[in-house]
Amino acid sequence: MTRYAIGLGSNLGDRLENLRAGDAGLSQLGKITARSALYETEPIGGPRQDPFLNAVVLLESELEPHRLLDACLEIEAQRGRERSVDWGPRTLDIDIITYDGPPLSDDRLTIPHPLAADREFVLRPLAEIWPDAPVGDDTTAREQLEEVGPQGVDLLVRQWVRDRPVGSWLAGAQLALILLTVIGVLIDGSAENLDEHPVISALGLTLAILGAALGGSASVSAGRDLTVKPEPEEGADLRDAGVYRLVRHPMYGGLLLMVLGAALAAGSMYAMVGWLALTILVLVKADYEERLLRIRYPAYASYRRRVPRRLIPGIF
Ligand code: ADP
Ligand code: MG
Repeated sequence: MTRYAIGLGSNLGDRLENLRAGDAGLSQLGKITARSALYETEPIGGPRQDPFLNAVVLLESELEPHRLLDACLEIEAQRGRERSVDWGPRTLDIDIITYDGPPLSDDRLTIPHPLAADREFVLRPLAEIWPDAPVGDDTTAREQLEEVGPQGVDLLVRQWVRDRPVGSWLAGAQLALILLTVIGVLIDGSAENLDEHPVISALGLTLAILGAALGGSASVSAGRDLTVKPEPEEGADLRDAGVYRLVRHPMYGGLLLMVLGAALAAGSMYAMVGWLALTILVLVKADYEERLLRIRYPAYASYRRRVPRRLIPGIF
């Protein structure tokens, strides 16, 4: 039984599905004993192209290295031929990065892979699941990772093969907190607040109106593709027009402004606490959502750089 570390990469088509197809193909060749997290990597060299999704898996297999290479090229071809354009972008790249045998080099195959020791997108996922993996000249993945500087490699999600119901939990928690703040306003707020604290009430009403305007323009820009779950709708395009040019999550921004405004206007302490909790939840959910968006849309990483504000135009 040989232990192989195998690198998967894709920057064309449905990148996540490509990696999953590669993973499924490899699991036919032995037993996959570990999977790294999923990373997004800015392409190095070559023509202008979209960022890659990268991961490394450990495969325990009876196959001899050259037979394994043949099998990997076969999986690549099954997934890759359909869309293959000129050099650079690839539907699926499968590389044998290293193994627990002696270094090997001939005209078809070199192990450890000659570029492995220089590339953060190989070393980081590899060090995660096999820190002592040999990557050439008596060094290990962990040691080499410290040697190479950062090269624009970002961890997106830890699980990329089985879906976890995280999204439904976050959406459920969001709805529950909104409901709680509404109840807070109803039981704990009072109309007298308007007379007793006119300035705070006026501020609250203004915030609520601004929030409604922000959320409203978001729903105009988003049209039918709105969903309370963090996963992007199937087949929906990346939204980067209208109010989405000012802020990446106008719906959440609008929601938080409205809830804060209502809590202030009604003078409700409960609703304020609910608003705080909702703010924390929305920040977590927006972060999770952005990781999923980066998986779905290669252009999301550059959209994110173009639009630095998350919730409130010009402010946050
Ligand atoms: P890249 O170097 O960007 O992965 P390709 O995937 O097009 O480029 O190169 C594939 C060729 O590289 C294979 O046909 C194979 O013969 C050769 N090769 C040499 N060493 C390895 C290795 N360790 N893993 C995968 N392919 C290798
Ligand atoms: Mg390759």
